[in-house]
Amino acid sequence: MTDTSERPPSAGAASARPLVTMEHVDKHFGDLHVLQDINLTVNAGEVVVIIGPSGSGKSTLCRTINRLEPIDSGEIRLDGQHLPEEGKKLAQLRADVGMVFQSFNLFQHKTVLENVTLGPIRVRKVPKAEAETRARALLDRVGVGNQAEKYPAQLSGGQQQRVAIARALAMEPKVILFDEPTSALDPEMIKEVLDVMVDLARGGMTMVVVTHEMGFARSAADRVAFMADGRIVEERTPEEFFTNPQSARAKDFLSKIL
Ligand code: ADP
Ligand code: MG
Repeated sequence: MTDTSERPPSAGAASARPLVTMEHVDKHFGDLHVLQDINLTVNAGEVVVIIGPSGSGKSTLCRTINRLEPIDSGEIRLDGQHLPEEGKKLAQLRADVGMVFQSFNLFQHKTVLENVTLGPIRVRKVPKAEAETRARALLDRVGVGNQAEKYPAQLSGGQQQRVAIARALAMEPKVILFDEPTSALDPEMIKEVLDVMVDLARGGMTMVVVTHEMGFARSAADRVAFMADGRIVEERTPEEFFTNPQSARAKDFLSKIL
């Protein structure tokens, strides 16, 4: 797979460029304080894995990053730019944030190729032929190049998720958010998706990944953010986190999943 990164992963702090900055972000769903004083910075080329128990606010955190969920207070910046509540500028910034969901979310009535070209043609105004050439290269890159004319329902879950990753890449996003991308997959398909993600990480893609795949966290994450009850309780290197978790919540969580 080709390396399209501007800089290698885990480049030194001296050259750190914050792509996602969350400062004192708070959010409620009614009485539920779902995000509590969230502070998180993701630098260009970094892979941050978010783990934590179900209901701790991981998906909500991801969704606030491109304003799929509004926040009550605090500040979110994308590549240094304040994220507005709405309007044209929000649409532009949003296009820089790719999302890959648990449920693939492909357009069922469009072919694989159309799924990947739609965004670039409509949002980025890329000419159709060029969008198709690029889409085919991306589909090759994720290992489904020979499925381009098929419809999503004709593909396995693992293939569909790889198409979803190609679709996100086609927009040339600055960062891609993955929300439990392998949780809906049959076990034998998990690896083929994780392999693509590891490849992206090594290629320098900036990624925020919510996952229970601790193998991925260990091998690809620069940092692990552990969430519980709407807070980031710990944020450390995978090595530190897995060998020596500090909080009782993290110890308890790890004892259940490892
Ligand atoms: P996680 O992804 O860590 O499992 P979520 O971010 O999905 O957690 O949810 C955090 C909490 O917020 C849960 O208690 C969930 O029920 C609640 N929640 C999520 N979305 C909404 C919503 N749209 N309205 C009300 N409550 C919600
Ligand atoms: Mg979730």
